[in-house]
Amino acid sequence: MVARVIPVDPFDLVIFGGTGDLARRKILPALCRRFADGQMPEGSRIIGAARAALDTDGFRQMIRKALDEFLGEDAPDADSQSRFVDALSYVKVDAASDDGWADLRGALREDVVRAFYFSVGPSLFGPIAAQLGAFNLVTPETRIVVEKPFGHDLETARALNQTLAAHFDETQIYRIDHYLGKETVQNLMAVRFANILFEPLWNSRFVDHVQITVAESVGVGGRGPYYDKSGAMRDMVQNHLMQLLCLIAMEPPHCFEPDAVRDEKLKVINALDPVSAGEAVRGQYTAGPNSASYLTEVETPDSLTESYVALKVGISNWRWKGTPFYLRTGKRLRSRSSEIAITFRDPPHSIFGEGAPWRANVLVIRLQPDEGMTLRVMIKEPGPGGMRLKDVALDMSFADALGEDMHIPDAYERLIMDVIRGNQTLFMRGDEVEAAWAWTDPIIDGWRKAADKPSEYDPFSSGPEDALMLMHRDGRKWREIR
Ligand code: NAD
Repeated sequence: MVARVIPVDPFDLVIFGGTGDLARRKILPALCRRFADGQMPEGSRIIGAARAALDTDGFRQMIRKALDEFLGEDAPDADSQSRFVDALSYVKVDAASDDGWADLRGALREDVVRAFYFSVGPSLFGPIAAQLGAFNLVTPETRIVVEKPFGHDLETARALNQTLAAHFDETQIYRIDHYLGKETVQNLMAVRFANILFEPLWNSRFVDHVQITVAESVGVGGRGPYYDKSGAMRDMVQNHLMQLLCLIAMEPPHCFEPDAVRDEKLKVINALDPVSAGEAVRGQYTAGPNSASYLTEVETPDSLTESYVALKVGISNWRWKGTPFYLRTGKRLRSRSSEIAITFRDPPHSIFGEGAPWRANVLVIRLQPDEGMTLRVMIKEPGPGGMRLKDVALDMSFADALGEDMHIPDAYERLIMDVIRGNQTLFMRGDEVEAAWAWTDPIIDGWRKAADKPSEYDPFSSGPEDALMLMHRDGRKWREIR
């Protein structure tokens, strides 16, 4: 099956941090795929901008190697890759001084869409925005893409929003949360709003509870000391899990336009019940036979930062009052697996007698691996012997449903092209980010004030014991992390 490609006009895209890990591993391979699919027109320019003393040839060489390494199995053909690399150039720019900015201005055209991707450490977001303003690089058709983390707490996020607002209109700012670019996450909206089937049941009358799990099997590895300054709550819950929760819980927007969608997400965040620090479960993984402990990896033996967090979240509005949302995320868990599971309530009465085994209907949306959806339903077990019930899975893997050779685009492919098209629907608005921090800050602050020590959990397990208790207390169970 061939993906539909919406053409765009030639554009200029500057990647600050073009030599960095994210640019080499994700951004440039994503652009190469869009180029090979014919979506990035000839005449578009991609300019790497970083501090390294490179010239265009050196940059092209570096990216050729990165494409070899990161494009994976279904890489575009060699000719497309080489034409893509020919469209790259490099300007040496120091974000923290005036060096190179005039050269960068000289490399850009006035009359095309101009996008600046901030793929640098967060301390450079403000200085780059200021330099773009100072060197007159901002045209009406300019957009900026800001990577995560967007602030460290409400105060820093607010300050960053103010710095950006001094140079850009909100319609020019694309705050990236790559979860929103995942096909399955967008499918959440399609499932909810393009089918009549689910929406009438999508409320506390019919939904018993929702589980959102983002589990990783990797530890913090080389990013240890950096990760230790944030932890699972800041790194995952405040952004990715919060966005997933919003997409499940929001009211139907009146159209699929950026502010219509983002207004509804903001209402959800504002309706979240506060969670006290003591109610939230946090954990740190211990050492295993072949793996180091969290404390060793972050090189801080007394660190109180969590590599795991689990929370029960209530939403105080008419639709969701009484249906808890359980969120959990962590590193060094049993496997890399992310899913959203919506467990429906039992039917009000069994016509099959008291002894009939009930399993609640569950709709599972798998984000990774094997993106797809499963709906568990009760059926009659085939054969004689009366009405015996059994629960089975109606299972759909997107790869199977859409055809073997359908390439499921990486989130960055979709998101970068949305920036060029000027579509902010899948990007976070400033007030949304601030509201999310306003909700998570008191929990993190509570942990800090209490010098709360995270519980230990075994590597490659499903997390700390207390997280199991969080569910048991409510007579429920986490789904297994497989
Ligand atoms: P990195 O350290 O690998 O790369 C940083 C880049 O910034 C390099 O190209 C470097 O030359 C450039 N740089 C540093 N100082 C500079 C200066 N003064 N002027 C100009 N350029 C300068 O970092 P990364 O992993 O690529 O991450 C970049 C951003 O993306 C960070 O904000 C990070 O939080 C975010 N992010 C990264 C990942 C990832 O998987 N790597 C995932 C999500 C978000």
